[in-house]
Amino acid sequence: MEYSKLADAYARLEKTAARLEKTAIVATVLQEASDHDLQEVTLLLQGRLFPDWDERETGIAQSLMLRLIASSTGYTEGKVEQLYKELGDFGLVVEKLAGGKRQQTLLTRKLTVSKVFHNLQELAAIDGAGSQERKSRLVSELLSSAEPLEAKYIVRTVLGDLRIGVEKGVVRDAIARAFFAEVVWDAKETAGLAKEAAGKFFLTEKGLLERLAEKGKLDQSALQSFREKNDVKEMDVGTITAEHLWKKKSKADYALISDHETGGALKKAVVEGVEWAWFLSSDYGKVAAVAKEKGITGLLDIEIALGRPVNVLLAEKAPSLKDALEAFARPALEVKYDGARVQIHKNGGKIALFTRRLEDITDQFPDLVKMAKERLKPDSCIVEGEILGIDKSSGKPLPFQALSQRIRRKYEITKLAEAIPIQVNLFDIIYLDGRPLFSKSLGERRRLLEKSVRVEQDKFQLTEQLLTKDESKAEQFYRKALDAGQEGVMVKNLDAAYQPGRRVAGGWLKVKPTLETLDLVIVGAVWGTGKRVGWLGSLILGCKTEQGFAECGMMGTGIKEKKTVEGDVTLEEMTEMLKPHIYFEEAGTVKIRPKVVIEVAYEEIQQSPTYGSGYALRFPRFVRVRWDKGPDEADDIERLKRIYEQQKGRG
Ligand code: AMP
Repeated sequence: MEYSKLADAYARLEKTAARLEKTAIVATVLQEASDHDLQEVTLLLQGRLFPDWDERETGIAQSLMLRLIASSTGYTEGKVEQLYKELGDFGLVVEKLAGGKRQQTLLTRKLTVSKVFHNLQELAAIDGAGSQERKSRLVSELLSSAEPLEAKYIVRTVLGDLRIGVEKGVVRDAIARAFFAEVVWDAKETAGLAKEAAGKFFLTEKGLLERLAEKGKLDQSALQSFREKNDVKEMDVGTITAEHLWKKKSKADYALISDHETGGALKKAVVEGVEWAWFLSSDYGKVAAVAKEKGITGLLDIEIALGRPVNVLLAEKAPSLKDALEAFARPALEVKYDGARVQIHKNGGKIALFTRRLEDITDQFPDLVKMAKERLKPDSCIVEGEILGIDKSSGKPLPFQALSQRIRRKYEITKLAEAIPIQVNLFDIIYLDGRPLFSKSLGERRRLLEKSVRVEQDKFQLTEQLLTKDESKAEQFYRKALDAGQEGVMVKNLDAAYQPGRRVAGGWLKVKPTLETLDLVIVGAVWGTGKRVGWLGSLILGCKTEQGFAECGMMGTGIKEKKTVEGDVTLEEMTEMLKPHIYFEEAGTVKIRPKVVIEVAYEEIQQSPTYGSGYALRFPRFVRVRWDKGPDEADDIERLKRIYEQQKGRG
């Protein structure tokens, strides 16, 4: 594939924010890529040169990029720098300058995706003396043959900042769309397609088009011409499976189904097949190739590769310990350690370690590599656990921050490993001697884990576990965990399978004290629509600053429409309370004098350019009106900042 084709797609992706459109653009590129180019194209569309778990980087810093652009476009470094200051993006800079230079030099040859990909991948392998020159040569070679638009995206790819907004969900959906028939179940859409399509292959539910014709949604002549112009294969609806949608086998562009349940289920089966393969391989390049060549069966059969991280099972939050206990017939409580998750792969004598974000941390933890080698009994396995940093003098767990130093450290690793020793608490096993264990119950997996580990007390052990449905026993366990400085407890379903990459209902529930609530002032609101017309629907929250109040989020939930218990505040009452303080109104949004203080719960605090305070509460929830507090006693921006800092670096 010519690189210009990819560059055009990048430009279109950059222009649109619509997810469906992005998916369609990516799908078309994937379809057009040859078998040879497909994996590379899939990575490049994500702005990557290596799969997610591969840490290699091009190693080209901004200063080198500046020199490189100057030399390959023939402009001075001063000019490049000046333009960079104006535009804030080397991609735009090179696009502009390469355009100027084009008049002078003749383009030598067309760039191919493969050439660009290999030159850029090679950057990561260059090290040592003279590496800057060698790297420059590889990039310059590309830039000198690049059109301005191509140059823009080459430079952005090198810098790891493509700015086209293709997130993982888009790639997943695009792979499904590129290699499987599009499922259509909406009658209007079906009729529209039937009227317009030509030269396409349709798989249709038997009798569907005739039924549409009978209902007058498609006239007979249109039906006839549809059949003449297209290839149409009819099947009994019950016999159509996701496998039939696979283009390589069925050639079908579209599958026409009469009801949304069947259609939706088919579409979901394809998307979930793609997702499953991604969860196991963590490499969309590979997933695209398998989807194209082997269809659904290939995707579902994709094998775990030792040394490549598997996406992990995630926990859901339970409102309370009691709720969590009631959720499962056979709950298992475990301490929720305040550390970092690790996935340990053992393949004979070889160990690899990954974080839950799939980063390779094998080099950072030589002590854990050694323990895993000695203490994991099977020849090959994947186990999961939580690493804790341990205070050398007291032997007690350290706060997460200490451990995070070890995760990030790239030099003097042994020294740091000695200063901050670790403890590992293992809680799952997902692969054992050639067999994935996903479908086994947690109870069974735990038994296998117990058999697989040679425990070293306080160093390499299994998580503390309590099997109980008794609330007071569970509470005692929870308190003990909190007293020991840990985050809370995990309540796990002993009967549940392991679902890679997912937060699943019926799997793990985490129970921990929520973040402290904030008392904030209402500084604005938005008039409700629909059922909420006439009421102030969403409230704009403010925190105290030295100058007054700064916005820190918008809250829509938690305030009821009807009173259920005495003391509740309804939307109507809230509106009446705020109305007299409105002092400005525009396009449905009002500004309100800071008078009313409310207590707000939330998931976390994020940094945000949207709000004046620079912070935004994520998922804010109304708790109650603080009648007892005036605006001057509301929480201030410093408190938000402190909580933000505390939660940073976790997870
Ligand atoms: P959260 O990050 O709050 O969604 O909670 C899930 C995380 O808790 C996991 O990814 C682990 O890193 C961590 N964790 C700590 N202790 C356990 C445990 N006993 N079982 C599972 N996960 C645990």
